[in-house]
Amino acid sequence: MPRLRQDNVTAARWSPNGATLGALDLTDPDNRLFATKVFTPAEQRKRLPKNVYKQLQSTLERGEALDSSLADAVALAMKEWALENGATHYAHWFQPLTGSTAEKHDSFFSPVGDGTSIADFSGKELIQGEPDASSFPTGGIRATFEARGYTAWDPTSPAFILENPNGALLCIPTAFASWTGEALDFKIPLLRSMGALSDAAVRALRLLGDDETQLVYSTVGPEQEYFLIDEQYYFARPDLVTTGRTLFGAKPPKGHELDDHYFGSIPERVLACMLETERELEKLGVPVKTRHNEVAPAQYEIAPLFENSNVGADHQQLTMQVLQNVARKYGLVCLLHEKPFAGVNGSGKHNNWSMSTDTGVNLLDPGDTPHENLQFLFFCTAVIKAVDRHQGLLRATVAGPGQDHRLGANEAPPAIISIFLGAELHEVYDALEKGKASEVKPGSLLGLGTPVLPPLPRHGGDRNRTSPFAFTGNKFEFRAVGSTQSIALPNTVLNTIVAEAIDELGSELEEAMKGGASLEEALRPVLQKAWREHKRIVFDGDGYSQEWHEEAKRRGLLNLPTTPDALPYFVKDETVRAFETYNVLSKRELEARYEVFTEQYAVKINIEAETAASIARTMLLPAALRHLALLREAGVPELVSETEALVNEFVAAIRALEAANLKENQDDASAAAWAVYLRDKVIPAMERVREVADKLERIVADDLWPLPKYSEILFIK
Ligand code: ADP
Ligand code: MG
Repeated sequence: MPRLRQDNVTAARWSPNGATLGALDLTDPDNRLFATKVFTPAEQRKRLPKNVYKQLQSTLERGEALDSSLADAVALAMKEWALENGATHYAHWFQPLTGSTAEKHDSFFSPVGDGTSIADFSGKELIQGEPDASSFPTGGIRATFEARGYTAWDPTSPAFILENPNGALLCIPTAFASWTGEALDFKIPLLRSMGALSDAAVRALRLLGDDETQLVYSTVGPEQEYFLIDEQYYFARPDLVTTGRTLFGAKPPKGHELDDHYFGSIPERVLACMLETERELEKLGVPVKTRHNEVAPAQYEIAPLFENSNVGADHQQLTMQVLQNVARKYGLVCLLHEKPFAGVNGSGKHNNWSMSTDTGVNLLDPGDTPHENLQFLFFCTAVIKAVDRHQGLLRATVAGPGQDHRLGANEAPPAIISIFLGAELHEVYDALEKGKASEVKPGSLLGLGTPVLPPLPRHGGDRNRTSPFAFTGNKFEFRAVGSTQSIALPNTVLNTIVAEAIDELGSELEEAMKGGASLEEALRPVLQKAWREHKRIVFDGDGYSQEWHEEAKRRGLLNLPTTPDALPYFVKDETVRAFETYNVLSKRELEARYEVFTEQYAVKINIEAETAASIARTMLLPAALRHLALLREAGVPELVSETEALVNEFVAAIRALEAANLKENQDDASAAAWAVYLRDKVIPAMERVREVADKLERIVADDLWPLPKYSEILFIK
């Protein structure tokens, strides 16, 4: 049956699921939605006995382990709150190494034997759950005889309620470990790394003269990019359904060359969808703040206010989940893949990262006084040192099959990790290095001893969109994170490597101050030395340019274009040393991650390749043959020979891909070898099939082409 354009008309029509949410009177306190579905400290205070509440809060503030005697009281209050909110079930909500979230639902109600049931939920169920670990990736950690894993309540991330039209679910954020205590998730290492960073930063702050700070948090504000497309197109494309991206599709005549989408007005249906998404996220306590169109057609962004890394990472997972769920109510599908459309901008997740004291000071904020500036330079230098030393590892944390279309290809950001400081801050470091007075009016605020440094930039002036790691005024923005990825691991790595650098700079400073030197005198050479050693990582120019690739090579920076190049950095000596020193991940836990991520890469590419072969052979080739028959019938020899030639090329390309996909060509080796095979043999075969298919798409009769086209998917809203 020929494909009709009527689908497009249907796609363009929509109603918000038969009902609109309407606008709320926000001056009425009852209409304030924020965190209404969260077991917040305020809710806890209302419901818990005073002494229990106090003990709970103070253990959390000090970051200590929770006394299990409190758990029963908390569980009781939590259960009541959840039942009042319609929850029939509870779930330990955790983040296995699949990268998504997992939940096993248990009913609150247990039969009591007399034909009735009671709502039952005690401290025991709150604190610990026992999902079978064998169904989750463990990278060899799980001994075969011991499949049990356990989930452990994370009281530092508040419980929340997920609503469904037919019920509600209490979700308890938990960590997930093997029975032998090894981390099988993203949360445990993140929490460990936050502790490590806090200890290192507090120690350094003491040296810098701060006696007040007890805890330092890493903070994160992730900006999420995503596509919204009409579900008609999504379900008509097996590649989107199976792999999350289009494996075929010729470039449309109109792309984003006109730049008419970025920050443009948001289409009505999309805005309606965003408004509901934000309302749902607000109820869950996710502080959503910004929304706008992104560069590519049908691409958008959502960003929250920043929070501590642990809560921020949990909220980021929820954001991805809610974006996808709500989209369906509007006849849309949310694509989180890093590269859903070839030739069109991909999606990332800008991970804004900083450190904050429990007294409310942002350690990467330059500040106004000489002392604040010293402190800022100390911590900023630690970040530069850490990123330079562990550039390969940082690249590895953002590796993945979808990412190879962005990082390794000609798209932002590049696969070479570098830091953008901006002209003003760069000058400060230049002055520091040369030890020369710069042209600053005498009496200006700050100084690092003499000579005087120019005033530090409070708000990083220009933005360099091509930099993978940019200083943006009072935080660093790690832009290389992929749109599907959990932000937990990149932040775990940032926290750990910065803790290590802070400690090293701290020790040097301590040493230098022993002779009685003032802080200023002692700090200057310490920072100078670190800058000299690590300034190669700083690059303010165009990260896409060929010159940068050459320059980076001269500087000895790593260029790791593909996932198999990057992943081994999880198990390099310097990684193991840092992660074991700070008890964030053991060697075994690092090896497990390396293995799991390698396997995931291979499996995903394999699925793409098989999907591509199947679509090519069973959908596209038949369309091309029908078209050829039409041409023959019409008797236009010139077009017949043109099409025949392409069809022959297509058949050859399909057969080559099918051969490459054969299991016997792959299975004999390790996951790492399989990954390399897929990258070097299968991906090129897949690309070749696509290349010919996209040519065919341009000549085959439109009503015969079985896949919706880019010009439809991206532009009909
Ligand atoms: P951009 O102009 O880069 O798109 P915005 O200025 O809108 O970004 O903010 C980007 C993100 O940075 C927001 O999510 C914000 O919460 C986050 N952010 C701001 N300050 C900090 C901080 N101290 N730590 C972590 N994230 C922060
Ligand atoms: Mg940004």
